[in-house]
Amino acid sequence: MSNIKIELTKQSKLKDLDLENIVFGREFSDHMFIMDYYDGQWRDARIEPFKNMEVSPAFLSLHYAQSIFEGLKAFYTQNDEIVLFRPQANFARLNKSAERMCIPPIDEAFTLDALKQLVNIDRAWVPNVKGASLYIRPLIFATDEFVGVKPSETYRFVIFTCPVNKYYDAPVKVKIEESYTRACSGGVGYSKTAGNYASSLYPTKLAIKEGFDQLIWTDGKEHKFIEESGTMNLMVVIDGKLITPISGDTILAGITRDSVLKIARDWGMPVEERNLAVQELLDAHAAGTLTEVFGTGTAVTICHIITIGYRGQLLELPAVAGRVFSNKVNDQLAKIRLGSDVDKFDWIEKVG
Ligand SMILES: *Cc1c(COP(=O)(O)O)cnc(C)c1O
Repeated sequence: MSNIKIELTKQSKLKDLDLENIVFGREFSDHMFIMDYYDGQWRDARIEPFKNMEVSPAFLSLHYAQSIFEGLKAFYTQNDEIVLFRPQANFARLNKSAERMCIPPIDEAFTLDALKQLVNIDRAWVPNVKGASLYIRPLIFATDEFVGVKPSETYRFVIFTCPVNKYYDAPVKVKIEESYTRACSGGVGYSKTAGNYASSLYPTKLAIKEGFDQLIWTDGKEHKFIEESGTMNLMVVIDGKLITPISGDTILAGITRDSVLKIARDWGMPVEERNLAVQELLDAHAAGTLTEVFGTGTAVTICHIITIGYRGQLLELPAVAGRVFSNKVNDQLAKIRLGSDVDKFDWIEKVG
């Protein structure tokens, strides 16, 4: 693997930007990392100004969705250092997605080093405000110009970043989806691949029309078991036990999910990774033992669910202020990122 060629921008866009009032995912930092795969190898690693690139109408990725991505964040600690949260886990997952989509693997250590260089170059873009962060989007897509379904022989890997505000974490209203399916056993649900998100748009649009914010997917076979929600994994607390569906091949194995489970186990909280039936949720709600329902994911960390729609009925869940576990684990993750508590799991990676 060659060194990374660096071309800096002549005109930073930063001065035109109000970092306090940015819309999530709409503003892009000055630079991006790129490397290309051809002749059987990843090559030409470089950092250059963020700009449009040329797209052939015949790119395989545009037609057949041979494309994968990741999402992670860089933060300021209380000591004014910039850190990444578990980036190794993201690159390991990117390679897992790559394998399923016949995309050649990347060198994880090299890519982490490249990402650190990129964040360092754009360090002025990392908002130094509590709760704000730099969102990082790695992306690989097929670039063969070819009509016909086959794995591409060429790819582009890009990493670009966006400054993001403190996410407005209002509790959400979700609908249990029993007609449409996100993922089936044997499919690509566990892979962060483009098609999974395209296929979720229409059912989600219908739910939004009904007044919900998001869906809870159920299993594709019987629509009996809870899977996940949007780009979040789902967790519940029933009778003091933290329960979450197994991250098999239909569920994306979230890094936030894994972090929450590790902290819960460390605290001695009973944790169950198992099938979670919709009926169990309804029964626990009726019995008053369902005390917390929340989603986990990089964008929001913890997203409280306040209402669940099921077959035309609305289940109102306990007030967010009284939810002991999810609030505490949210605070704990913030402390680890800020460096105000020891990083006992070794999750924090300093950026140069
Ligand atoms: C990215 C994603 C998640 C959350 O994963 P994190 O690593 O915690 O950000 C959950 N579900 C889906 C479908 C996702 O795409």
